[in-house]
Amino acid sequence: MSAPFVIPIFIAHHGCPHQCLFCNQRSITGAPEGMVSAREVEETIRAQLAWPRRHPEAPVQVAFYGGSFTGLSMERQRELLGAAQPFLASGQVRELRLSTRPDYVTPRIAGFLREQGVGIVELGAQSLNDRVLAASGRGHTAAQVRYAVACLKEAGMRVGLQLMLGLPGDTTAITLTSGHQAAALSPELVRLYPCLVIEGSPLAELYRQGEYQPQSLPWAVALAGRLWSIFKAQGIPVVRMGLQPSAALEKTVLAGPYHPAFGELVLSRLFFNQVRAALSVRSSRQACRLSLAKADESIYRGCGNGNVKRLAALGLLEGVETVFSASQPRQSVVLTPFSP
Ligand code: SF4
Repeated sequence: MSAPFVIPIFIAHHGCPHQCLFCNQRSITGAPEGMVSAREVEETIRAQLAWPRRHPEAPVQVAFYGGSFTGLSMERQRELLGAAQPFLASGQVRELRLSTRPDYVTPRIAGFLREQGVGIVELGAQSLNDRVLAASGRGHTAAQVRYAVACLKEAGMRVGLQLMLGLPGDTTAITLTSGHQAAALSPELVRLYPCLVIEGSPLAELYRQGEYQPQSLPWAVALAGRLWSIFKAQGIPVVRMGLQPSAALEKTVLAGPYHPAFGELVLSRLFFNQVRAALSVRSSRQACRLSLAKADESIYRGCGNGNVKRLAALGLLEGVETVFSASQPRQSVVLTPFSP
């Protein structure tokens, strides 16, 4: 099935009385102030459906992002989800998706969401370690994440998990254990976010007082790569790494491993390792052709052609002809020795 065409609707901070240390939600989503009305939801869907699409056969999803959807009053939830019902009924929209907190999910809420045509719920789990969750001011436990996943699956929905790297109290070992525990919950998809210090968040104060040290960019990239590999091994897609870049976000990032193409950096690092391993087993630098997917050319080259320079510096590109094929599957590396 083709990747869905997603119509995003940002509800920002509405519905969330919490204050996670890292969160200044409005900066993160870049959403404008004010409540999104049912009419605006309807107009957004209608406008987006009217645009020509590259893959018109792709199923359409309407996604309510930002904030904690099921923390809204039932009346507001009905109003927002209700605005999408005519499009579901007509078949123009396949399903709805939304994000929420794990402790805002009960069997009753899960049943209600399913009735309203919600197919995927993304949970802001952030970590599956109780000490990290407490130190980050999340206000829920790892057990609540597991319970929410069970409730949503029981009601017939797919579940996405959002995890954060480098939270207060986090370590590499804790992050990797959280990754394995999250993979064991068999989510439909995962998003990975490095913890950034956002102006206006409580974490910004801790950072200024020297009580929080964010991860460096190379460290966060390497760690995200290890998590990506854990999920990949279980066949779980990591659909996003790093926050969506926006002018509002860039203005408010005070410190931390921010890069507008964070995910690309991670994939590029992973692909460098994969290509290096394949070239390293070549016998005595035998001349060969290195064939890669055309779509992987930029992650192969890396930022500023850095990967190619490193491979060359290691002597691994001697006698290698590199070709990019439009028909080759992504992230595959094919090495063919030239006949003598
Ligand atoms: S629960 Fe979500 S919206 Fe609420 S403070 Fe935490 S991160 Fe922000």
